[in-house]
Amino acid sequence: MIGRIFEMFVSVQGEGILAGEQMLFVRFSGCNLNCDYCDTEECRHAISGRLLTHEEIIREIEDMLAQNPSVGTVSFTGGEPLLQSELIAELTQYLKEKKIKIYVDTNGTLCDKFANIASNVDCVAMDIKLPSASGGMEFWEEHKKFLLSACENIFVKIVLTSKTTVDEFKKAVEMVERVNNLIPFVMQPVTPIKKVDGILPENLERFKKIAEKRLKKVSIIPQMHKKWGIK
Ligand code: SF4
Repeated sequence: MIGRIFEMFVSVQGEGILAGEQMLFVRFSGCNLNCDYCDTEECRHAISGRLLTHEEIIREIEDMLAQNPSVGTVSFTGGEPLLQSELIAELTQYLKEKKIKIYVDTNGTLCDKFANIASNVDCVAMDIKLPSASGGMEFWEEHKKFLLSACENIFVKIVLTSKTTVDEFKKAVEMVERVNNLIPFVMQPVTPIKKVDGILPENLERFKKIAEKRLKKVSIIPQMHKKWGIK
């Protein structure tokens, strides 16, 4: 089995409910979306990065874990890692045997591919992609299907920009509520990039109140790694 890996590195998780935890990141090349606020553009092309066999990837993971013995979690990120779910399935099998925890960061549009690895994953960070940041594209059905397939170990992350509308935000909240109102719901104010501006603090507060009316576990967590000045 071979695949495209953009980079591998050890750092501290900067997003979501596990922010602050040291992890080994495996960043896959390629993505099926084109979000306005993407901060990993260089890895979105399917031919970026290195072509590696799963044995080569495992060897590099082993070396990095040996150098960083306190790291107990491997994060599969991208790009969109689930585009290479067969490769991830090979890697997760090995990692599970070694008792390493597995974290997957996904755009939540490839539910069928997630099925290949679902039973081995310890935590899924699923983005809800709003039309205001995806060139008008909607993924409600895909997101709902994904949430239903993984609701035990999943949290959702929703990036909020100056263009986020109340209507689409409410739709996202209602979708999560219909699946399970206990799913952690992380509101992530965008780190301004290119032509994407940050959400106003008063709007962030207003959105939080909307979410809290329907969901039990709502939090606001910015991209902490950007604030800490790390990768
Ligand atoms: S899904 Fe992630 S990697 Fe793909 S374009 Fe959107 S932000 Fe970038």
